[in-house]
Amino acid sequence: MHKAETKPFIPYGRQQIDDQDVQAVLKALQSDWLTTGPMVERFENEIAGWVGATHGVAVANGTAALHAAMYAAGIGPGDEVVLTPITFAATANAVVFQGGTPVFADVDPDTLLLDPIQVERKITSKTKAIITVDYAGQPSAYDELKELAERHGLLFIADACHALGAEYKGKRIGSLADLTVFSFHPVKHITTGEGGMIVTNENEFCHKMKRFRNHGFTADHAQRAQKETWQYQMVDLGFNYRITDFQCALGISQLERLPQFLEKRRKIAQRYEKAFGLNDFIRPLHTVPENFHAYHLYVIRLAFKKLQIEKAVFYKSLRDKGIGVNVHYIPVYLHPYYQNVFGTRPGLCPIAESAYEEILSLPIYPAMNEEDVSRVVDAIHEAITEMSPKYCLTN
Ligand SMILES: *Cc1c(COP(=O)(O)O)cnc(C)c1O
Repeated sequence: MHKAETKPFIPYGRQQIDDQDVQAVLKALQSDWLTTGPMVERFENEIAGWVGATHGVAVANGTAALHAAMYAAGIGPGDEVVLTPITFAATANAVVFQGGTPVFADVDPDTLLLDPIQVERKITSKTKAIITVDYAGQPSAYDELKELAERHGLLFIADACHALGAEYKGKRIGSLADLTVFSFHPVKHITTGEGGMIVTNENEFCHKMKRFRNHGFTADHAQRAQKETWQYQMVDLGFNYRITDFQCALGISQLERLPQFLEKRRKIAQRYEKAFGLNDFIRPLHTVPENFHAYHLYVIRLAFKKLQIEKAVFYKSLRDKGIGVNVHYIPVYLHPYYQNVFGTRPGLCPIAESAYEEILSLPIYPAMNEEDVSRVVDAIHEAITEMSPKYCLTN
């Protein structure tokens, strides 16, 4: 008899750090600057340059970046911001941080991206901005949303935390909205541990956000040292949202491998596509072929109702098999906070709610090997076979 081998748990996402990354961080640690030094500006310039934007403002995390974007957009009490409910809570929270009201518009049933027609129906005289999310790494309907924003005099903001490296009609995400936000959390395309950035082509936005990340002061200490003055003024209420130089050194090093990372994600997605493409009960999300998908997530829709499977039981069974499936996301307005504070209720965005019943995110990250992908595919088939008498693989 041989001992049952327990294979390592496959998470839904994780970082890939190599020796070059480690050396880059070490070098920054041994330099004169741990924070607010030259690595920060270099990282900002490299990311902005890579995505095709004029300015980058690096901050402590993606949530801080969203907050700074809302500040730059001038969102305040009484202002409404229309956004998608299929996102991480921080997208909506950033509106609330500034005293604004998030207004949720429903998504396209095939891509789960914000639907411009639904957005237009939610625009009122109080609306100041639209926030779209490039869900899973697929570009939003940028042209339609931008046209809508321009027609109504609104700012157009992209939460592109899933979409570093994605392309819309041949243009990289980051150059298409008034403000675009990225996160460098370890599950994202490149990491700084914690980190985020806003890119923009507007000088004034850049200036405001640099102030906002440093308490609302007019000059940071490096600029003061250069000008040989102790004087600075706090002209607005800001935060300490700064990022360190050693984090930015890691980000610069990771950025070199971004094309490789994107390619690995694409390959894994293609294998999933092949494995699940011809199945009546499993449906990958629709992708728009002329755009470049960055595959932060690989999302499938499972017909749990037809299969007579309870989603929670299925989820647990896969976790027990060592497969870190996840659900992105519960529609934000269904969280108790939003229901209590903003009075949102089930039924607000029916397409998002019915999608939520079916969606499951499968593991996808550059360090995944062929065997890992096969284990995920086999485990999904196995779990369905175990749980549903109706399921047949040849479907
Ligand atoms: C990751 C993420 C954020 C927040 O980023 P943090 O760096 O974790 O603060 C915001 N929005 C979306 C869509 C995300 O995926």
